[in-house]
Amino acid sequence: MNVMADTRPLDVLADFPAIHPGWHYLDTAATSQKPQAVIDAIARAYGETYATVHRGVYQRSADMTLAYEAARKRVARFIGAEGREIVFVRGATEAINLVARCWAGEQLKAGDRILLSTLEHHSNIVPWQMVAERIGAAIDIVALTDDGRIDLDAMAAMITPQHKMVALAQVSNVLGSVLDARRAADIAHLVGAKILLDGCQAVPRMPVDVRALDCDFYVFSGHKLYGPTGIGVLWGRYDLLDAMPPYQGGGSMIDRVSFAKTTYAPPPGRFEAGTPHIVGALGLHAAIDYVESTGLDRIHAHEAALVEATRERLGQINSVRLFGPEDSAGIVSFAVEGVHPHDVATILDESQVAIRAGHHCAQPLMDALGVPATARASFGVYNSLADVEALASGIERVTRIFG
Ligand code: PMP
Repeated sequence: MNVMADTRPLDVLADFPAIHPGWHYLDTAATSQKPQAVIDAIARAYGETYATVHRGVYQRSADMTLAYEAARKRVARFIGAEGREIVFVRGATEAINLVARCWAGEQLKAGDRILLSTLEHHSNIVPWQMVAERIGAAIDIVALTDDGRIDLDAMAAMITPQHKMVALAQVSNVLGSVLDARRAADIAHLVGAKILLDGCQAVPRMPVDVRALDCDFYVFSGHKLYGPTGIGVLWGRYDLLDAMPPYQGGGSMIDRVSFAKTTYAPPPGRFEAGTPHIVGALGLHAAIDYVESTGLDRIHAHEAALVEATRERLGQINSVRLFGPEDSAGIVSFAVEGVHPHDVATILDESQVAIRAGHHCAQPLMDALGVPATARASFGVYNSLADVEALASGIERVTRIFG
């Protein structure tokens, strides 16, 4: 691949007020910076068009309801789903908790099993542990290949009809490894298990179609997709959502309330108790418009080229150990021999290079890698070869400081 040609900037810098010349933001996997179009949509929603949804009979509220529901349809179109299958939640964490509580909590019985992988984010581990403990279900872990991918051959060999739920990250937030999600879904379905895909790191980096992936649940957070915090998405097959009890009780999620008996609204309203994050949904709509107009295929190719350049450049520094596969999606974890990742990140910050250091909410993965933490550089649409070079020369400075 011609790295020089493919790493040309996407020419979006003017869209991002937070990214200024000389500052190298390499923490998009934690949260992405926001394009002006998203900031404007949020300002407009809180400004001249603000009102509540679903309740008002006056025009402004009816318009806001239309905008909120339009955001739902936009999300559906983005991932190849139907609007009635899209539940707005606070983020991926809440979405997984919702499925663990309302699907697994209802469907699983003692002795059933849940399948996760070594590289999962804590938000795709702890909710399952909580439900498994309550029910008496067990959790099994699919190991990784040597280069840090979820080992689907191992998964195929270990899955049994006792496994009722498989929950896997489509892209690892630490290693950037991309799952063959369709194959994972096929393996899960062979034994009759459902599969939930954690798409947090996938939706900002590649086109996603939940029908083509043939998954049962799909979750992601708005703030990693150039949208606002506090809004995220749970997609579920409608028949699965329809069979699930409510998550929380309150306004909006009901059909009819009386002290004798309360009945619930159909999905997705059943899972959206209370006044929703109206402005967050409108901001997410603008974010999806933004990434689709930039082009997810272009974003994917751009980030892949930056990863390739990063691995090549950091690979030339003797004391650097790279984690994860060669073809990771926009995310590279590394260690500098003899230097704690927090020190690496602190020294890089002095050179205006912002990376993340720590366990990345993936402590079991750290255990498997045999390290307490890693340093992680992750890319977004605004990054270019200049950021890779700043990272590499910053690391060279780290190695000089630490001798
Ligand atoms: N899964 C993955 C793969 C993630 O990267 C993250 C965020 N780091 C989450 C889940 C949780 O997302 P949130 O904190 O937005 O709910």
